[in-house]
Amino acid sequence: QENRFQAIIAHAKEYGFVFPSSEIYDGLSAVYDYGPWGSELKKNIRDYWWKSMTQMHENIVGVDAAIFMHPTTWKASGHVDNFSDPMIDNKDSKKRYRVDHLIEAYADKLKEAGKEKESEDLLSQMDVLLSKDNFAGLKQLIDDNKISCSISGTSNWTDIRQFNLMFKTEFGAIASDNPEDSIIYLRPETAQGIFVNFLNVQKTARMKIPFGIAQTGKAFRNEIVARQFIFRMREFEQMEMQFFVRPGTESKWYKYWKQERLAWHLSLGTPADKYRFHDHVKLAHYAKEACDIEYEFPIGFKEVEGIHSRSDFDLSQHQLYSKKKQNYFDNDIDEKTGKPYGNYIPYVIETSIGLDRMFLLIMSQAYDEETITKEDGSQDRRVVMRIPVKLAPNKLAILPLVKRDGLPELARQLMDECKPHFRCFYEEKDAIGKRYRRQDAIGTPFCVTIDHQTKEDGTVTIRERDSMEQRRIKLSEVKQEISKFL
Ligand code: ATP
Repeated sequence: QENRFQAIIAHAKEYGFVFPSSEIYDGLSAVYDYGPWGSELKKNIRDYWWKSMTQMHENIVGVDAAIFMHPTTWKASGHVDNFSDPMIDNKDSKKRYRVDHLIEAYADKLKEAGKEKESEDLLSQMDVLLSKDNFAGLKQLIDDNKISCSISGTSNWTDIRQFNLMFKTEFGAIASDNPEDSIIYLRPETAQGIFVNFLNVQKTARMKIPFGIAQTGKAFRNEIVARQFIFRMREFEQMEMQFFVRPGTESKWYKYWKQERLAWHLSLGTPADKYRFHDHVKLAHYAKEACDIEYEFPIGFKEVEGIHSRSDFDLSQHQLYSKKKQNYFDNDIDEKTGKPYGNYIPYVIETSIGLDRMFLLIMSQAYDEETITKEDGSQDRRVVMRIPVKLAPNKLAILPLVKRDGLPELARQLMDECKPHFRCFYEEKDAIGKRYRRQDAIGTPFCVTIDHQTKEDGTVTIRERDSMEQRRIKLSEVKQEISKFL
Protein backbone atom coordinates (compact mmCIF):
# COMPACT_ATOMS: atom_id res chain seq x y z
CA GLN A 1 0.00 0.00 0.00
CA GLU A 2 2.89 2.33 0.78
CA ASN A 3 4.18 1.55 -2.74
CA ARG A 4 0.82 2.41 -4.19
CA PHE A 5 0.88 5.73 -2.34
CA GLN A 6 4.35 6.50 -3.73
CA ALA A 7 3.20 5.50 -7.23
CA ILE A 8 0.26 7.92 -7.01
CA ILE A 9 2.56 10.76 -5.88
CA ALA A 10 4.96 10.07 -8.76
CA HIS A 11 2.10 9.85 -11.25
CA ALA A 12 0.58 13.11 -9.98
CA LYS A 13 3.87 14.86 -10.70
CA GLU A 14 4.67 13.21 -14.03
CA TYR A 15 1.24 13.86 -15.53
CA GLY A 16 0.69 17.43 -14.40
CA PHE A 17 -1.63 16.97 -11.41
CA VAL A 18 0.47 18.08 -8.42
CA PHE A 19 3.99 19.54 -8.15
CA PRO A 20 6.01 20.31 -5.02
CA SER A 21 5.81 24.07 -4.45
CA SER A 22 8.79 26.11 -5.72
CA GLU A 23 10.41 22.88 -6.83
CA ILE A 24 13.40 24.55 -8.53
CA TYR A 25 14.40 25.67 -5.02
CA ASP A 26 13.97 22.11 -3.74
CA GLY A 27 10.38 22.62 -2.69
CA LEU A 28 8.71 23.90 0.46
CA SER A 29 7.70 21.34 3.04
CA ALA A 30 3.98 20.40 3.02
CA VAL A 31 3.15 22.99 0.34
CA TYR A 32 2.09 21.95 -3.17
CA ASP A 33 1.08 23.46 -6.51
CA TYR A 34 -1.59 22.05 -8.79
CA GLY A 35 -0.65 21.58 -12.45
CA PRO A 36 -2.76 21.75 -15.61
CA TRP A 37 -4.85 18.63 -14.92
CA GLY A 38 -4.72 18.99 -11.16
CA SER A 39 -6.15 22.49 -11.25
CA GLU A 40 -9.01 21.29 -13.51
CA LEU A 41 -9.76 18.30 -11.30
CA LYS A 42 -9.64 20.43 -8.16
CA LYS A 43 -11.97 23.00 -9.68
CA ASN A 44 -14.40 20.27 -10.75
CA ILE A 45 -14.50 18.81 -7.22
CA ARG A 46 -15.08 22.28 -5.76
CA ASP A 47 -17.84 23.00 -8.30
CA TYR A 48 -19.49 19.64 -7.61
CA TRP A 49 -19.56 20.39 -3.88
CA TRP A 50 -20.70 23.97 -4.40
CA LYS A 51 -23.53 22.96 -6.68
CA SER A 52 -24.68 20.19 -4.35
CA MET A 53 -24.76 22.66 -1.45
CA THR A 54 -26.07 25.91 -2.90
CA GLN A 55 -27.95 24.94 -6.05
CA MET A 56 -29.50 21.72 -4.76
CA HIS A 57 -30.51 23.16 -1.37
CA GLU A 58 -32.76 26.20 -1.63
CA ASN A 59 -31.93 27.13 1.95
CA ILE A 60 -28.15 27.30 1.53
CA VAL A 61 -26.36 30.37 0.16
CA GLY A 62 -22.68 31.12 -0.28
CA VAL A 63 -20.15 33.70 0.87
CA ASP A 64 -16.59 34.42 -0.09
CA ALA A 65 -14.98 35.99 2.96
CA ALA A 66 -11.46 37.40 3.17
CA ILE A 67 -8.53 35.35 4.44
CA PHE A 68 -7.50 38.19 6.76
CA MET A 69 -9.89 38.75 9.62
CA HIS A 70 -9.91 41.08 12.59
CA PRO A 71 -7.52 39.54 15.15
CA THR A 72 -10.23 39.49 17.82
CA THR A 73 -12.04 36.89 15.69
CA TRP A 74 -9.43 34.32 16.72
CA LYS A 75 -9.59 35.25 20.37
CA ALA A 76 -13.37 34.82 20.31
CA SER A 77 -13.18 31.52 18.45
CA GLY A 78 -10.67 30.11 20.90
CA HIS A 79 -7.93 29.64 18.32
CA VAL A 80 -5.44 31.98 20.01
CA ASP A 81 -5.64 30.03 23.26
CA ASN A 82 -6.49 26.52 22.15
CA PHE A 83 -5.53 25.86 18.56
CA SER A 84 -2.37 24.03 19.37
CA ASP A 85 -0.93 20.55 19.42
CA PRO A 86 1.48 19.10 21.97
CA MET A 87 4.93 18.76 20.39
CA ILE A 88 8.18 17.13 21.33
CA ASP A 89 11.68 17.55 19.84
CA ASN A 90 14.40 14.98 19.56
CA LYS A 91 17.57 16.57 20.92
CA ASP A 92 19.89 14.64 18.58
CA SER A 93 18.13 14.92 15.23
CA LYS A 94 16.39 18.24 16.07
CA LYS A 95 13.33 16.64 14.52
CA ARG A 96 9.97 17.80 15.89
CA TYR A 97 6.97 15.49 16.28
CA ARG A 98 3.34 15.87 17.19
CA VAL A 99 3.12 13.79 20.34
CA ASP A 100 0.04 11.85 19.24
CA HIS A 101 1.61 11.06 15.86
CA LEU A 102 4.81 9.82 17.50
CA ILE A 103 2.95 7.50 19.86
CA GLU A 104 0.54 6.31 17.15
CA ALA A 105 3.41 5.40 14.85
CA TYR A 106 4.95 3.34 17.66
CA ALA A 107 1.58 1.68 18.36
CA ASP A 108 1.37 0.75 14.66
CA LYS A 109 4.76 -0.93 14.91
CA LEU A 110 3.65 -2.91 17.97
CA LYS A 111 0.57 -4.03 16.10
CA GLU A 112 2.60 -5.11 13.08
CA ALA A 113 4.79 -7.14 15.41
CA GLY A 114 1.69 -9.00 16.60
CA LYS A 115 1.46 -7.14 19.92
CA GLU A 116 -2.13 -6.00 19.41
CA LYS A 117 -3.00 -5.79 23.11
CA GLU A 118 0.05 -3.66 23.98
CA SER A 119 -0.71 -1.42 21.02
CA GLU A 120 -4.30 -0.83 22.09
CA ASP A 121 -3.32 -0.26 25.73
CA LEU A 122 -0.78 2.32 24.68
CA LEU A 123 -3.33 4.20 22.56
CA SER A 124 -5.95 4.24 25.27
CA GLN A 125 -3.43 5.49 27.83
CA MET A 126 -2.47 8.21 25.35
CA ASP A 127 -6.12 9.23 24.85
CA VAL A 128 -6.67 9.66 28.57
CA LEU A 129 -3.49 11.71 29.01
CA LEU A 130 -4.24 13.88 25.97
CA SER A 131 -7.77 14.61 27.13
CA LYS A 132 -6.34 15.89 30.44
CA ASP A 133 -3.47 17.81 28.78
CA ASN A 134 -1.21 15.78 31.05
CA PHE A 135 2.12 16.49 29.34
CA ALA A 136 4.29 15.04 32.09
CA GLY A 137 2.31 11.81 31.83
CA LEU A 138 2.69 11.74 28.05
CA LYS A 139 6.43 12.28 28.34
CA GLN A 140 6.59 9.44 30.86
CA LEU A 141 4.69 7.21 28.42
CA ILE A 142 7.22 7.99 25.67
CA ASP A 143 10.14 7.32 28.02
CA ASP A 144 8.65 4.12 29.49
CA ASN A 145 8.15 2.67 26.02
CA LYS A 146 11.60 3.85 24.88
CA ILE A 147 10.00 5.40 21.80
CA SER A 148 12.78 6.58 19.54
CA CYS A 149 13.12 9.11 16.76
CA SER A 150 12.91 7.64 13.24
CA ILE A 151 15.87 9.76 12.09
CA SER A 152 18.41 9.57 14.92
CA GLY A 153 17.15 6.33 16.44
CA THR A 154 17.62 7.83 19.92
CA SER A 155 15.06 8.57 22.62
CA ASN A 156 16.69 11.75 23.82
CA TRP A 157 13.58 13.95 24.03
CA THR A 158 12.84 17.49 25.18
CA ASP A 159 9.84 18.23 27.36
CA ILE A 160 6.46 18.47 25.68
CA ARG A 161 5.25 21.93 24.72
CA GLN A 162 2.11 23.37 23.14
CA PHE A 163 2.65 24.70 19.66
CA ASN A 164 0.07 27.05 18.17
CA LEU A 165 -0.72 26.16 14.56
CA MET A 166 -1.71 29.64 13.37
CA PHE A 167 0.56 31.58 11.02
CA LYS A 168 1.16 35.20 11.99
CA THR A 169 2.03 38.13 9.82
CA GLU A 170 2.10 41.92 10.09
CA PHE A 171 -0.74 44.04 8.89
CA GLY A 172 0.19 47.37 7.34
CA ALA A 173 1.83 50.17 9.28
CA ILE A 174 -0.03 50.66 12.49
CA ALA A 175 0.99 53.60 14.66
CA SER A 176 1.34 51.91 17.98
CA ASP A 177 4.11 51.31 20.49
CA ASN A 178 2.92 47.77 20.91
CA PRO A 179 4.10 45.54 18.02
CA GLU A 180 1.42 43.02 19.07
CA ASP A 181 -1.20 45.43 17.69
CA SER A 182 -0.19 44.86 14.10
CA ILE A 183 -0.16 41.06 14.31
CA ILE A 184 -2.69 39.37 12.11
CA TYR A 185 -3.33 35.68 11.46
CA LEU A 186 -3.79 33.73 8.29
CA ARG A 187 -7.13 32.02 8.87
CA PRO A 188 -6.73 28.41 10.05
CA GLU A 189 -10.30 27.58 8.97
CA THR A 190 -12.89 29.23 6.74
CA ALA A 191 -15.75 28.80 9.23
CA GLN A 192 -15.19 32.05 11.14
CA GLY A 193 -15.76 34.08 7.96
CA ILE A 194 -19.22 32.54 7.91
CA PHE A 195 -19.99 33.19 11.59
CA VAL A 196 -19.03 36.86 11.52
CA ASN A 197 -21.27 37.32 8.47
CA PHE A 198 -24.21 35.41 9.92
CA LEU A 199 -26.55 38.41 10.24
CA ASN A 200 -25.38 40.10 7.02
CA VAL A 201 -26.26 36.97 5.08
CA GLN A 202 -29.45 36.16 6.95
CA LYS A 203 -30.84 39.64 6.39
CA THR A 204 -29.72 40.28 2.81
CA ALA A 205 -30.68 36.85 1.48
CA ARG A 206 -33.85 36.87 3.63
CA MET A 207 -33.08 33.45 5.05
CA LYS A 208 -35.29 31.72 7.58
CA ILE A 209 -34.03 29.12 10.02
CA PRO A 210 -33.08 26.39 9.28
CA PHE A 211 -30.63 27.65 6.67
CA GLY A 212 -27.01 27.24 5.72
CA ILE A 213 -24.03 29.30 4.54
CA ALA A 214 -21.40 27.65 2.36
CA GLN A 215 -17.87 28.75 1.61
CA THR A 216 -14.76 27.42 -0.07
CA GLY A 217 -11.32 28.92 0.36
CA LYS A 218 -7.75 28.70 1.55
CA ALA A 219 -6.82 27.96 5.16
CA PHE A 220 -3.37 27.85 6.74
CA ARG A 221 -1.97 25.73 9.54
CA ASN A 222 1.63 25.43 10.62
CA GLU A 223 1.38 21.64 10.78
CA ILE A 224 4.21 19.53 12.10
CA VAL A 225 4.21 16.98 9.37
CA ALA A 226 5.45 13.65 8.26
CA ARG A 227 5.67 12.89 4.54
CA GLN A 228 2.00 12.65 3.68
CA PHE A 229 1.83 14.48 0.34
CA ILE A 230 -1.34 16.60 0.07
CA PHE A 231 -3.04 14.79 2.97
CA ARG A 232 -1.62 17.28 5.48
CA MET A 233 -0.56 20.62 4.07
CA ARG A 234 0.39 23.97 5.53
CA GLU A 235 -1.70 25.82 2.95
CA PHE A 236 -4.86 24.02 1.90
CA GLU A 237 -8.42 24.60 0.86
CA GLN A 238 -11.58 23.89 2.81
CA MET A 239 -15.20 23.55 1.76
CA GLU A 240 -17.35 24.32 4.75
CA MET A 241 -21.04 24.74 5.42
CA GLN A 242 -22.58 26.02 8.63
CA PHE A 243 -26.21 25.11 9.06
CA PHE A 244 -28.12 27.31 11.53
CA VAL A 245 -30.93 25.62 13.41
CA ARG A 246 -33.37 26.21 16.25
CA PRO A 247 -31.99 25.00 19.62
CA GLY A 248 -33.45 21.60 20.41
CA THR A 249 -33.45 20.46 16.77
CA GLU A 250 -29.67 20.06 16.49
CA SER A 251 -29.62 16.32 16.99
CA LYS A 252 -32.07 15.77 14.13
CA TRP A 253 -30.03 18.01 11.79
CA TYR A 254 -26.75 16.44 12.84
CA LYS A 255 -28.08 13.02 11.78
CA TYR A 256 -29.45 14.53 8.57
CA TRP A 257 -26.11 16.04 7.55
CA LYS A 258 -24.20 12.88 8.42
CA GLN A 259 -26.32 10.93 5.95
CA GLU A 260 -26.47 13.71 3.37
CA ARG A 261 -22.70 14.07 3.28
CA LEU A 262 -22.06 10.34 3.03
CA ALA A 263 -24.58 10.22 0.16
CA TRP A 264 -22.61 12.98 -1.58
CA HIS A 265 -19.42 10.93 -1.36
CA LEU A 266 -21.16 7.79 -2.62
CA SER A 267 -22.72 9.71 -5.53
CA LEU A 268 -19.23 9.76 -7.05
CA GLY A 269 -19.33 6.00 -7.42
CA THR A 270 -16.87 5.10 -4.64
CA PRO A 271 -17.79 1.74 -3.06
CA ALA A 272 -19.44 2.15 0.36
CA ASP A 273 -16.94 -0.15 2.09
CA LYS A 274 -14.18 2.37 1.43
CA TYR A 275 -15.93 4.75 3.84
CA ARG A 276 -16.71 4.68 7.53
CA PHE A 277 -17.86 7.07 10.24
CA HIS A 278 -15.64 7.66 13.21
CA ASP A 279 -17.54 9.15 16.14
CA HIS A 280 -15.49 11.40 18.38
CA VAL A 281 -15.32 10.21 21.94
CA LYS A 282 -13.31 13.19 23.11
CA LEU A 283 -15.39 16.25 22.26
CA ALA A 284 -14.31 19.86 22.15
CA HIS A 285 -15.80 21.68 25.15
CA TYR A 286 -18.49 23.38 23.03
CA ALA A 287 -19.36 20.38 20.85
CA LYS A 288 -22.46 18.28 21.42
CA GLU A 289 -21.71 15.57 18.86
CA ALA A 290 -18.97 15.15 16.28
CA CYS A 291 -17.77 12.58 13.80
CA ASP A 292 -15.39 12.18 10.90
CA ILE A 293 -16.10 10.62 7.56
CA GLU A 294 -13.08 8.43 6.94
CA TYR A 295 -11.90 6.98 3.65
CA GLU A 296 -9.51 4.09 3.20
CA PHE A 297 -6.51 5.87 1.68
CA PRO A 298 -3.48 3.76 0.66
CA ILE A 299 -2.07 4.91 4.03
CA GLY A 300 -5.11 3.53 5.90
CA PHE A 301 -8.52 4.83 7.00
CA LYS A 302 -8.18 8.57 7.54
CA GLU A 303 -10.42 11.60 8.01
CA VAL A 304 -11.59 13.37 4.89
CA GLU A 305 -14.50 15.34 6.36
CA GLY A 306 -15.74 16.39 9.78
CA ILE A 307 -19.36 16.87 10.87
CA HIS A 308 -19.78 18.78 14.09
CA SER A 309 -22.71 19.86 16.21
CA ARG A 310 -21.29 23.10 17.65
CA SER A 311 -24.19 24.43 19.76
CA ASP A 312 -24.36 28.27 19.87
CA PHE A 313 -20.70 28.46 20.88
CA ASP A 314 -19.32 30.47 17.93
CA LEU A 315 -22.12 33.03 17.62
CA SER A 316 -22.25 33.52 21.41
CA GLN A 317 -18.51 34.07 21.55
CA HIS A 318 -18.69 36.65 18.75
CA GLN A 319 -21.57 38.38 20.52
CA LEU A 320 -19.49 38.49 23.69
CA TYR A 321 -16.33 39.85 22.04
CA SER A 322 -17.93 42.20 19.50
CA LYS A 323 -20.75 43.33 21.80
CA LYS A 324 -23.07 43.05 18.77
CA LYS A 325 -26.22 41.00 19.18
CA GLN A 326 -26.20 37.78 17.16
CA ASN A 327 -29.87 37.00 17.79
CA TYR A 328 -32.35 35.70 15.32
CA PHE A 329 -36.09 36.33 15.66
CA ASP A 330 -38.04 33.20 14.84
CA ASN A 331 -41.71 33.98 14.14
CA ASP A 332 -42.70 30.38 13.55
CA ILE A 333 -45.29 29.30 16.08
CA ASP A 334 -44.26 26.92 18.84
CA GLU A 335 -47.11 24.41 19.05
CA LYS A 336 -46.58 23.91 22.78
CA THR A 337 -47.06 27.57 23.73
CA GLY A 338 -49.02 28.83 20.73
CA LYS A 339 -46.55 31.73 20.55
CA PRO A 340 -43.63 32.48 18.20
CA TYR A 341 -40.33 30.90 19.17
CA GLY A 342 -38.96 34.44 19.37
CA ASN A 343 -35.37 35.53 19.93
CA TYR A 344 -32.47 33.13 20.23
CA ILE A 345 -28.90 32.53 19.14
CA PRO A 346 -29.09 29.67 16.61
CA TYR A 347 -27.30 26.37 17.04
CA VAL A 348 -24.94 25.21 14.32
CA ILE A 349 -24.24 21.96 12.50
CA GLU A 350 -21.04 22.18 10.50
CA THR A 351 -19.82 20.07 7.61
CA SER A 352 -16.14 20.64 6.85
CA ILE A 353 -14.22 18.89 4.11
CA GLY A 354 -10.68 19.45 2.85
CA LEU A 355 -10.65 19.99 -0.91
CA ASP A 356 -7.07 18.72 -1.21
CA ARG A 357 -7.91 15.61 0.82
CA MET A 358 -10.90 15.00 -1.41
CA PHE A 359 -8.56 15.40 -4.38
CA LEU A 360 -6.23 12.79 -2.89
CA LEU A 361 -9.24 10.54 -2.30
CA ILE A 362 -10.27 10.80 -5.97
CA MET A 363 -6.69 10.16 -7.11
CA SER A 364 -6.35 7.15 -4.77
CA GLN A 365 -9.64 5.70 -5.90
CA ALA A 366 -8.95 6.35 -9.60
CA TYR A 367 -5.36 5.13 -9.91
CA ASP A 368 -5.15 1.72 -11.54
CA GLU A 369 -2.30 -0.26 -13.08
CA GLU A 370 -3.52 -2.82 -15.57
CA THR A 371 -1.91 -5.52 -17.69
CA ILE A 372 -3.60 -5.89 -21.05
CA THR A 373 -3.28 -8.46 -23.80
CA LYS A 374 -2.95 -6.91 -27.23
CA GLU A 375 -4.42 -8.28 -30.47
CA ASP A 376 -1.15 -10.02 -31.38
CA GLY A 377 -1.12 -11.77 -28.00
CA SER A 378 1.68 -9.70 -26.52
CA GLN A 379 1.22 -8.05 -23.13
CA ASP A 380 1.22 -4.39 -22.33
CA ARG A 381 0.83 -2.34 -19.20
CA ARG A 382 -1.25 0.75 -18.78
CA VAL A 383 -1.85 3.20 -15.96
CA VAL A 384 -5.41 4.44 -16.07
CA MET A 385 -6.99 7.10 -13.90
CA ARG A 386 -10.61 6.04 -13.51
CA ILE A 387 -11.76 9.52 -12.49
CA PRO A 388 -15.58 9.95 -12.43
CA VAL A 389 -16.64 11.56 -15.75
CA LYS A 390 -18.18 14.53 -13.90
CA LEU A 391 -14.81 15.35 -12.36
CA ALA A 392 -12.38 14.41 -15.15
CA PRO A 393 -10.07 17.28 -16.21
CA ASN A 394 -10.84 16.67 -19.90
CA LYS A 395 -14.03 14.94 -21.00
CA LEU A 396 -13.04 14.21 -24.58
CA ALA A 397 -9.80 13.84 -26.56
CA ILE A 398 -10.12 14.54 -30.27
CA LEU A 399 -7.48 12.71 -32.28
CA PRO A 400 -7.04 12.85 -36.07
CA LEU A 401 -5.43 9.56 -37.11
CA VAL A 402 -2.90 11.27 -39.38
CA LYS A 403 -1.80 14.86 -39.90
CA ARG A 404 -2.97 15.06 -43.54
CA ASP A 405 -5.79 14.26 -45.97
CA GLY A 406 -8.11 16.79 -44.39
CA LEU A 407 -8.42 14.83 -41.08
CA PRO A 408 -7.06 17.62 -38.81
CA GLU A 409 -9.60 20.02 -40.37
CA LEU A 410 -12.49 17.68 -39.53
CA ALA A 411 -11.10 17.21 -36.03
CA ARG A 412 -10.83 20.99 -35.55
CA GLN A 413 -14.46 21.39 -36.57
CA LEU A 414 -15.50 18.88 -33.91
CA MET A 415 -13.29 20.67 -31.38
CA ASP A 416 -15.02 24.00 -32.12
CA GLU A 417 -18.42 22.39 -31.79
CA CYS A 418 -17.69 20.70 -28.44
CA LYS A 419 -15.38 23.02 -26.52
CA PRO A 420 -17.99 25.58 -25.46
CA HIS A 421 -19.83 22.73 -23.70
CA PHE A 422 -17.13 20.66 -22.00
CA ARG A 423 -13.35 20.59 -21.84
CA CYS A 424 -11.73 18.89 -24.84
CA PHE A 425 -8.13 18.00 -25.62
CA TYR A 426 -6.76 18.05 -29.17
CA GLU A 427 -3.72 16.03 -30.19
CA GLU A 428 -2.29 14.93 -33.53
CA LYS A 429 1.25 13.78 -32.59
CA ASP A 430 2.41 10.12 -32.15
CA ALA A 431 0.81 6.77 -32.89
CA ILE A 432 -2.80 6.46 -31.84
CA GLY A 433 -2.06 3.78 -29.21
CA LYS A 434 0.41 6.09 -27.48
CA ARG A 435 -2.08 8.93 -27.54
CA TYR A 436 -4.74 6.69 -25.93
CA ARG A 437 -2.31 5.76 -23.13
CA ARG A 438 -1.57 9.40 -22.39
CA GLN A 439 -5.29 10.15 -22.13
CA ASP A 440 -5.76 7.11 -19.84
CA ALA A 441 -3.04 8.50 -17.60
CA ILE A 442 -4.79 11.85 -17.17
CA GLY A 443 -8.23 10.27 -16.83
CA THR A 444 -9.94 11.41 -20.05
CA PRO A 445 -13.07 9.24 -20.22
CA PHE A 446 -13.57 9.37 -24.01
CA CYS A 447 -11.35 9.57 -27.10
CA VAL A 448 -12.66 10.16 -30.59
CA THR A 449 -10.51 9.26 -33.59
CA ILE A 450 -11.11 10.85 -36.98
CA ASP A 451 -9.88 8.57 -39.79
CA HIS A 452 -10.28 8.18 -43.56
CA GLN A 453 -13.61 6.45 -43.16
CA THR A 454 -14.91 9.60 -41.47
CA LYS A 455 -14.58 11.38 -44.80
CA GLU A 456 -16.57 8.67 -46.56
CA ASP A 457 -19.44 7.91 -44.18
CA GLY A 458 -19.27 10.63 -41.51
CA THR A 459 -18.52 8.21 -38.64
CA VAL A 460 -15.74 8.25 -36.04
CA THR A 461 -14.32 5.76 -33.55
CA ILE A 462 -15.22 6.50 -29.94
CA ARG A 463 -13.11 4.75 -27.30
CA GLU A 464 -14.06 4.41 -23.66
CA ARG A 465 -11.29 4.80 -21.10
CA ASP A 466 -12.37 2.18 -18.59
CA SER A 467 -13.32 -0.71 -20.88
CA MET A 468 -11.13 0.37 -23.83
CA GLU A 469 -14.13 -0.58 -25.94
CA GLN A 470 -14.32 1.05 -29.34
CA ARG A 471 -17.35 1.60 -31.54
CA ARG A 472 -18.28 3.81 -34.43
CA ILE A 473 -20.78 6.60 -34.07
CA LYS A 474 -21.77 9.51 -36.28
CA LEU A 475 -19.47 12.53 -36.10
CA SER A 476 -22.57 14.70 -35.79
CA GLU A 477 -23.62 12.83 -32.63
CA VAL A 478 -20.36 13.05 -30.65
CA LYS A 479 -21.31 16.15 -28.66
CA GLN A 480 -24.64 14.70 -27.63
CA GLU A 481 -23.08 11.32 -26.76
CA ILE A 482 -20.58 12.90 -24.32
CA SER A 483 -23.12 15.31 -22.88
CA LYS A 484 -25.21 12.33 -21.75
CA PHE A 485 -22.57 11.56 -19.10
CA LEU A 486 -22.20 15.06 -17.67
P1 ATP B 1 -6.61 16.37 11.42
O1 ATP B 1 -7.09 15.62 12.62
O2 ATP B 1 -6.33 15.49 10.22
O3 ATP B 1 -5.50 17.35 11.69
P2 ATP B 1 -8.71 18.22 11.89
O4 ATP B 1 -9.64 17.36 12.68
O5 ATP B 1 -7.85 19.21 12.55
O6 ATP B 1 -7.82 17.29 10.93
P3 ATP B 1 -10.72 20.01 10.92
O7 ATP B 1 -10.20 21.15 11.68
O8 ATP B 1 -11.98 19.34 11.34
O9 ATP B 1 -9.54 18.91 10.76
O10 ATP B 1 -10.80 20.44 9.38
C1 ATP B 1 -11.78 19.95 8.50
C2 ATP B 1 -11.18 19.29 7.29
O11 ATP B 1 -10.16 20.09 6.72
C3 ATP B 1 -10.52 17.96 7.58
O12 ATP B 1 -11.47 16.92 7.57
C4 ATP B 1 -9.54 17.84 6.43
O13 ATP B 1 -10.19 17.29 5.28
C5 ATP B 1 -9.17 19.26 6.14
N1 ATP B 1 -7.85 19.57 6.70
C6 ATP B 1 -7.55 19.92 7.97
N2 ATP B 1 -6.25 20.15 8.11
C7 ATP B 1 -5.68 19.93 6.90
C8 ATP B 1 -4.35 20.01 6.40
N3 ATP B 1 -3.35 20.37 7.17
N4 ATP B 1 -4.14 19.72 5.09
C9 ATP B 1 -5.16 19.36 4.28
N5 ATP B 1 -6.43 19.28 4.69
C10 ATP B 1 -6.70 19.56 5.99
